Amino acid sequence: MVVARCHRCGASAEVYLPYARMWFCSRHFTEYVVDRVRSSLKRYGMIKLGDSVLVCVSGGKDSITLLDVLWCLRDEFSLDIKVLHVDLGIGEYSVKCREVIEKVAERYGIRPMILYVKRILGMDVGAIARRVRRSTCSVCGLVKRYLINYVADVLDVSAVATGHTLDDLTMYILKLFITQDLTQLSRLRPYLEGVPEVGLRARIKPLCEISEFETSTYVKLLGLPHVVAKCPYINPESIDLKIKEFLTSLEDRSPGLKLSLLRNYLRKLAPILMRYLGEDKVGINRCRICSQATSGEVCSFCRLISKLGLEPEEVLRRIREEVLSS
Ligand code: SF4
Ligand code: ZN
Ligand code: ZN
Repeated sequence: MVVARCHRCGASAEVYLPYARMWFCSRHFTEYVVDRVRSSLKRYGMIKLGDSVLVCVSGGKDSITLLDVLWCLRDEFSLDIKVLHVDLGIGEYSVKCREVIEKVAERYGIRPMILYVKRILGMDVGAIARRVRRSTCSVCGLVKRYLINYVADVLDVSAVATGHTLDDLTMYILKLFITQDLTQLSRLRPYLEGVPEVGLRARIKPLCEISEFETSTYVKLLGLPHVVAKCPYINPESIDLKIKEFLTSLEDRSPGLKLSLLRNYLRKLAPILMRYLGEDKVGINRCRICSQATSGEVCSFCRLISKLGLEPEEVLRRIREEVLSS
């Protein structure tokens, strides 16, 4: 029987990456992931030396890989890394996420900021969604986006890093193309410039060229704490998951397809969309109620608060308190 050998050191290999046509031993696989994130950071101009980065960590394999890789690169880029976790109050699932965050804090010797949705809005994301008759995921996304922007602004960081992977980005490219949501599609980039005038920080996706197979292998090989349980609100029939499955079946037949889809999109279609749809900054103001960024007069978070019958001043006071006490 022929034993596969690591592409870098010749030792017996454990991981095969079909798109790269390379075998790796455990050590060289994890180094390869760090190398590729480093290349993406440079290729897409995501960070500068000395940047402060707010890393959003849910506790899942993707955000844990993101944190670990940025942690490996922090001296090289002189990064000041801050960690934010939003506790959604989703029963046992959120308890498990928090346990992982505690282990993360211990492992890296950091003090993550944890914001509790229940303390801020008086109920968890599921209860909010039922009250306003929206899907839990859309409420969850709205609340998380708002809190992340708020914290990034208060901490005055250079960028907010999220754990979106190659699988996420290619899924969104296809989904937004199908729905012809060209405005959102034009904003789908590894680096999205901030709008400091309205308190919006740059958004970066350092794992944009890393697949979910790679993040799950990375956390497994390094024995990193991560949440294995899935959020109970995940809809297995959602269009997002169906598109991901479809793209993965194509990737299996034609390794490298996802990476070419992303790179071709960024090189060919994205610049055209940006030219025709104008700069991101157009039409972004400060919300009349809370002063955070919005494209209308009142932001969607403040509209949600009012639908819940809560007082905006009281909710904003609770957010401030949570941030200060974290
Ligand atoms: Fe939030 Fe939906 Fe993801 Fe659960 S599945 S964490 S509710 S976005
Ligand atoms: Zn090796
Ligand atoms: Zn607002």
